Amino acid sequence: MSPKLELTGEELAKYRDNMRHSAAHVLAEAVVKLHPEAKLTIGPPIEDGFYYDFDVEQPFTPEDLKAIEKEMGRSIRGNSEFIEREVTREEALEQIKDNPYKVEILEGMQVFGHDHAPRGHMHIKFNNVRVPKENILLGVGRGFEISQVRLGPGRIHHCMRSIGKAEKALELMVKRGASREAFGKPLIKLGKNLEVVSRARIEINAMRLAVLQAAKAMDVLGNKEARVYVSAVKAMVPEKVCEIIDAAIQIHGAAGISQWTPLADLYTDMRHLRFADGPDEVHHMVVGRAEVQKYGLW
Ligand SMILES: Cc1cc2nc3c(=O)[nH]c(=O)nc-3n(C[C@H](O)[C@H](O)[C@H](O)COP(=O)(O)OP(=O)(O)OC[C@H]3O[C@@H](n4cnc5c(N)ncnc54)[C@H](O)[C@@H]3O)c2cc1C
Repeated sequence: MSPKLELTGEELAKYRDNMRHSAAHVLAEAVVKLHPEAKLTIGPPIEDGFYYDFDVEQPFTPEDLKAIEKEMGRSIRGNSEFIEREVTREEALEQIKDNPYKVEILEGMQVFGHDHAPRGHMHIKFNNVRVPKENILLGVGRGFEISQVRLGPGRIHHCMRSIGKAEKALELMVKRGASREAFGKPLIKLGKNLEVVSRARIEINAMRLAVLQAAKAMDVLGNKEARVYVSAVKAMVPEKVCEIIDAAIQIHGAAGISQWTPLADLYTDMRHLRFADGPDEVHHMVVGRAEVQKYGLW
């Protein structure tokens, strides 16, 4: 739909998100007015432009869209009032109780007590989902396969960023260990702390080489053939980086889990990667199986 209003300048840009959010609601209102049977699925929040997903008996035709746009214009010219209200979860559920789709996506999941705003992770229930034939990739029942191949490059990128986080943690570990004293000595010289630093450096170097090897394998062999190398770094990197960040937290004492350093955030971020990229065990399954296959024993 063509925009009727052009926003320019910082002052106006500030209101852009509000306008988009409101426009999404105007759209929903227009659709429900013209298609009372329509069920609303996903609406705001929005990042760019505005949208709403609708479940309707027949897909919208270009004529339907024109009529919807016209109805939106009518609604806007009618000076409808937009009221923003904060409501509790219970109030929201009561308000949308006749709209099962909305109820089913209402709950946002937290990660270690944080909501990963602004997009977050929704707990969603899919009912009778149908995918048009032309949108099926690879074949029915082969979704996991295609996602694994497709996700290879993204996963390597996660590993590279994770190594950067380990470098940061090691730097903080060394600086804190050298600058704070206990029992008359810098922390770094107490107990096995120097070995902890040494292990972190050795492991970061090993991870960097393993990721380079996986990236090279992808370039040379292609995503599919490189999957064992990719699984190897997916299994290795988040786990090792977690350990390095944990060691950095330990040497910081209580400050390590506070807001004074980025370590607590780094740790939770890295810990979630041990699931978000698939659980560690699944990556080990791929690597382990390939190893056994080398001897024709699988
Ligand atoms: C913050 C966050 C972001 C995410 N982002 C994405 C995303 O962008 N894309 C995406 O596709 N998914 C994403 N996920 C989902 C993630 O892929 C799944 O959580 C993960 O695959 C594990 O699935 P599950 O939670 O259903 O646990 P389950 O499948 O129930 O597994 C639970 C546990 O069972 C064990 N297990 C499972 N399989 C095996 C096995 N083969 N061998 C031995 N033990 C096993 C492991 O210990 C595992 O942790 C995200 C998850 C989180 C928390």
